[in-house]
Amino acid sequence: MNNPRAGIGMTSARTRGRMVERLREQGITDTMVLAAMGVVPRHLFIDEALQSRAYEDTALPIGFGQTISNPYIVARMTELARNGRELNRVLEVGTGCGYQAAVLGQLAREVVSIERIAALVGQTRKRQRELRFNNIKLKHGDGMHGYAEGAPYDAIVIAAAFGSVPEALKMQLVDGGRLVMPLGDENQVLLVVTRTGNSFLEERLEVVKFVPLLPGVS
Ligand code: SAH
Repeated sequence: MNNPRAGIGMTSARTRGRMVERLREQGITDTMVLAAMGVVPRHLFIDEALQSRAYEDTALPIGFGQTISNPYIVARMTELARNGRELNRVLEVGTGCGYQAAVLGQLAREVVSIERIAALVGQTRKRQRELRFNNIKLKHGDGMHGYAEGAPYDAIVIAAAFGSVPEALKMQLVDGGRLVMPLGDENQVLLVVTRTGNSFLEERLEVVKFVPLLPGVS
């Protein structure tokens, strides 16, 4: 049987290696994150028609009006969430095609990822089985409330923008845990929240552009 992860030409491991080099030039320094980006076959998370563009530094459509984030932002958010620590449990809000969850899955013991669009959950679950990413649990639901059953989390990554930090999510962090999200509506910045006891330190970083975090499920 062919190895489902191997690609050719624009989808080959060599092309992915060039993407990793570019991430390094763009300022990603966490070698564990760079290694994870080098392993996960990004082309297999998107439509066949777009696969030749999988390793460009661009967001791509994944259907249902949603996008897969560009490789730089996935690496950047992962690096910020990890902050050099070993990760036990991680929560992602906004699974989409499951690429970011797969990258997190390389660095954490277990990942819980929540998506509000049922059809996307079905599609992504099937892909994850095929690719044998076994330490990722997909949940259909409104991630705004997090997933208390799996809490506390060492890190929480929100892949959709919102005007404030959802309160429920902050409370699901471990002491010393970190939450990374795009903050804002039209104008968004990357926000890192670090929990120390019951105080939450907020740091605002670069400008970003994400789809909105929406309430409820569909
Ligand atoms: N991490 C994804 C990026 C997906 S885009 C990837 O690697 O491809 C953001 C996703 O967040 C969309 O699929 C959208 O449906 C989802 N989303 C928006 N609001 C949500 C909510 N309240 N709960 C869960 N998912 C949500």
